Amino acid sequence: MPDYKIEVDLLLCQGHGVCADECPEIFEVVDMGTGYPKVKVRNDRPGEALRGKVQDAVDYCPNRTIRIVDID
Ligand code: SF4
Repeated sequence: MPDYKIEVDLLLCQGHGVCADECPEIFEVVDMGTGYPKVKVRNDRPGEALRGKVQDAVDYCPNRTIRIVDID
């Protein structure tokens, strides 16, 4: 299976924190001083061991903010 990276669209993120509930190893919600808290990605290339949990974060994010991008 190819490696992957995580991309987020911070303009869409409203800080619900579902991603951090699904995969706290990678996602946290932080106050960036922009009005809403926003997702912060601790590691955008976490590897296969966490792919399932990252996929859950993608699937359950209510704003469809997170993407998995396969890379060579
Ligand atoms: S990425 Fe999605 S689930 Fe995570 S804080 Fe942003 S809007 Fe909420």
